[in-house]
Amino acid sequence: MMFTEDDLLPISALQHLTFCERQWGLIHLEGAWQDNVLTVEGTQLHDRAHDPDTETEVRGNVRTARGLRLRSLQLGLTGMADVVEFHAASELEAGIQLEGAPGLWQPFIVEYKRGHPKIGREDEVQLCAQALCLEEMLGVSILSSAFFYGEPRRRSDVVLDQGLRQETEALVARLHELTRAGATPPAQYAKKCNSCSLVDLCLPRATGGQRSAQRYLARAIADVVDPAPIDAGSTTSIGAEATP
Ligand code: SF4
Repeated sequence: MMFTEDDLLPISALQHLTFCERQWGLIHLEGAWQDNVLTVEGTQLHDRAHDPDTETEVRGNVRTARGLRLRSLQLGLTGMADVVEFHAASELEAGIQLEGAPGLWQPFIVEYKRGHPKIGREDEVQLCAQALCLEEMLGVSILSSAFFYGEPRRRSDVVLDQGLRQETEALVARLHELTRAGATPPAQYAKKCNSCSLVDLCLPRATGGQRSAQRYLARAIADVVDPAPIDAGSTTSIGAEATP
């Protein structure tokens, strides 16, 4: 099945979806967005990568394009690559022809990210989705790509292996499924909520199911009644019932 232009979803949604399905729903279905330090710094790095004064560049055996639009009708995705380098391909490597440049050239995506590599796979999935789009557009396999992290400022290569490709395709299918359903998934409080830019909007302790809501209410009531530390044995009956 091929998607139409009207069905295309943003590649950036995959990053939110991988991190948390509720975060994806709040941002992409409900239009919520709250900048925290992480997202602001990330945006600044992207702005530098998309500098319009340096859209193409040639340095030795590497040709660089910035801010390249991406699209896949097979996956139903659209987006933009910060930087795509074209490396002179060896005799054994596949590549594409570039106008005015003899030989074949292998595409290599470089995605700019703030901070350190994440523990989760959200960055790798987003990068792989970009590569899958570019492969469809250019008709060539892309073996690897890279992140440029802001801190420390260094490049980190990612092999686009079969496992990462399958994981990405499964998430893309889930993205279309949730978009068709059109409902924001419920909250599930977890450690990652502490670094989530939408935590104050989401209130995961208050909205993450009946038991979480009961615990949240019990704590809020206890704080009002007695701001001093609460002994578990003296909490209200709501809290006692809600404790697992
Ligand atoms: S606060 Fe937690 S549950 Fe809510 S959107 Fe963020 S990560 Fe998801």
